[in-house]
Amino acid sequence: MSETPTYLCDVCQEKEALGAACSALGPVSFQYCGECAFDRREPEAMFEATLDLVGEDVALHVKVAKTIVDGKVLTWDEWLAARGDA
Ligand SMILES: [Zn+2]
Repeated sequence: MSETPTYLCDVCQEKEALGAACSALGPVSFQYCGECAFDRREPEAMFEATLDLVGEDVALHVKVAKTIVDGKVLTWDEWLAARGDA
């Protein structure tokens, strides 16, 4: 009997993922748990990629996205501010 493999969420790295879905920020898929998916959270790498490609002035769908850094959920603007402090 084969077991269905389970995956950890690529965003929080804590909860079991519900499944893979396309990122809201680019043509790539990640594993998302329900909490991260419904809270529009993305892996921090997608924020880094967006900053590299677009700069700080982003579209609304990026502004409403969030990511997790050191266990803290940050919006785009909060993430930018936190980078500035680093
Ligand atoms: Zn998650």
